[in-house]
Amino acid sequence: MIRSTMPHVPLSVNHLLERAGRLYPQSEVISRMPDKSVVRHSYADLYRRARRLGAALLGAGLKKGDRVATLCWNHYAHLECYFGIPAAGGVMHTLNLRLAPDEIGWIANHARDRFLVVDDVLLPLLERFRAATNFERVIVVPLTGAPVKGADLNYEAFLDAAPKDFVYVAHDEDDAVSMCYTSGTTGRPKGVVYSHRSTMLHTLAVSATASCSAQASDTVCPVVPMFHANAWGMPYCCAMVGARVVMPGPHLAPPDLLELFNAERVTLACGVPTIWLGILQLLDNAPQLHRLPAGMRMTVGGAALPEAAVRGFAKHGASVMVGWGMTETSPVASISGNKPELLAIDADERIRRAAMAGIPLPLVEARLIGEDGSEQSWDGVRLGELQVRGPFVTGGYHDTPGDPDKFTVDGFLRTGDVAAIDQHAFIRIADRTKDLIKSGGEWISSVDMEGCLMGHPAVLEAAVIAMPDPKWGERPLACVVLKTAASVTAEQLREHLAASFARWQLPDRFEFIEAIPRTSTGKFWKAKLRERFL
Ligand code: ADP
Repeated sequence: MIRSTMPHVPLSVNHLLERAGRLYPQSEVISRMPDKSVVRHSYADLYRRARRLGAALLGAGLKKGDRVATLCWNHYAHLECYFGIPAAGGVMHTLNLRLAPDEIGWIANHARDRFLVVDDVLLPLLERFRAATNFERVIVVPLTGAPVKGADLNYEAFLDAAPKDFVYVAHDEDDAVSMCYTSGTTGRPKGVVYSHRSTMLHTLAVSATASCSAQASDTVCPVVPMFHANAWGMPYCCAMVGARVVMPGPHLAPPDLLELFNAERVTLACGVPTIWLGILQLLDNAPQLHRLPAGMRMTVGGAALPEAAVRGFAKHGASVMVGWGMTETSPVASISGNKPELLAIDADERIRRAAMAGIPLPLVEARLIGEDGSEQSWDGVRLGELQVRGPFVTGGYHDTPGDPDKFTVDGFLRTGDVAAIDQHAFIRIADRTKDLIKSGGEWISSVDMEGCLMGHPAVLEAAVIAMPDPKWGERPLACVVLKTAASVTAEQLREHLAASFARWQLPDRFEFIEAIPRTSTGKFWKAKLRERFL
């Protein structure tokens, strides 16, 4: 028996802040304000101000493990919260500002949030649920310069008044750093609590996938909200390598984003498909007016991105990497990655693979479980429920009784996603379990069909849902949004699909609609469509 000579050093997010301040003091954090002006901070500012925030919170009576909620867009102060709250031993709880006010209030109470950091522009939203909550202190980030009213504290004054000395609150690596609730399109939202250890391992694992990771030379724009699954871990990844960060604030419309990408020469941006589909339409419609910075990379996740969109972006000189994950998986669990045996594939195959959900991240174990409970082989065809396990995959929910439907006895998370995995370990998400269409005993993948429909030049967006059918059990119905000034008939779309799908799989019904309803995290809200067309 030989023991290692290595000490047990607890993993700590505080290390990232120290590193950012010491190694990369000149790296920039650029934030777009509500009035579209831009403010610039350095990592030296981030270091100083995040520690200030930590000192101020301790001065205000924060105790270890207390929850500090944020209701903020992406900007410097939110980034300071990412580091300053854990530095003081607090747990940052990002509230999703796109949820219904009652729901935000319910979540804040369930998490027992003690303090709140809120953007001044979001105060009207806060007022709609504040009475139902127990925030002891409300700290307002003055983005517009309007005076802070009543008993609320001004974030800048709060930092200024903080004691000068600050010492990180000691912690264990399993102590909580942050928490985030799933959006709960079915049932009540459930809280996932991340630890120092899980956050650090996730940061390292995301950064290890060379094709998408942020490098010191990058200018990174997290379009994905910091209130949604830690902005996919990008704030931590950037701090670790010293990347320049560009925060879009509340301006997420495609023209605003394109302008920002070009003005700040963004090299890597991350966001959900909705954002990219909007940008692609703009680029296609008016290439003389709009363009992407040359060679920009984009990571896309949260929902499937049609292969046609990956091809579309390639024409505009941008490369796309799709990742898959959930709030429960910190959130990135797989991403487009290089495989030695695939280095020589042609451009077409490269694009096809880029649109898949990638290969599991280091430290993530993945398996497919078929309907009969047996493990499915990785042949790219066989479908099964995707189950994952690892040090940054949650093993339960905050203050929620154990849920055997979500976790297996051997500790895997049942993701509720149906997928196939091929011999190269590339995951293809076919559906959410509840969105699969079963017709005459055979499965039809709505995601595949949507991807194919969105490859038609007249189609902007498409969602395919199951409709009950007395003969077949279920039949697919395609809801289609056309591009501006485009026209196409249901019959033409059926023909377009017939090139890739068997006759029996083709939708019987097409509905042309103005927009596809979205969840708070920008995904197609199929339950709403089913209600509408039933
Ligand atoms: P919520 O469940 O609250 O909508 P999450 O961000 O946790 O929010 O959503 C996770 C789900 O998003 C996954 O279970 C999966 O269904 C979907 N998803 C994420 N990435 C992809 C992807 N690349 N392709 C298809 N679906 C995806």
